[in-house]
Amino acid sequence: MPANPRFRRVVRIGPVQVGTYYDGRGREKHSAVCTAPRCGFSADYDSRTAAELAARTHRCRAR
Ligand SMILES: [Zn+2]
Repeated sequence: MPANPRFRRVVRIGPVQVGTYYDGRGREKHSAVCTAPRCGFSADYDSRTAAELAARTHRCRAR
């Protein structure tokens, strides 16, 4: 689960959550975070499309 309380528009794609937030400089960032306990995948992207694509193509190693 993203610990960031500013996450907005959170959607779940498989085991991966995608959320949008503003970084410290007010820029929109998009995170893909895998919720599987032993996976630990987490990445930031500049576009929502890229984050959702990463979530869809994520191969979860916890499985
Ligand atoms: Zn995973």
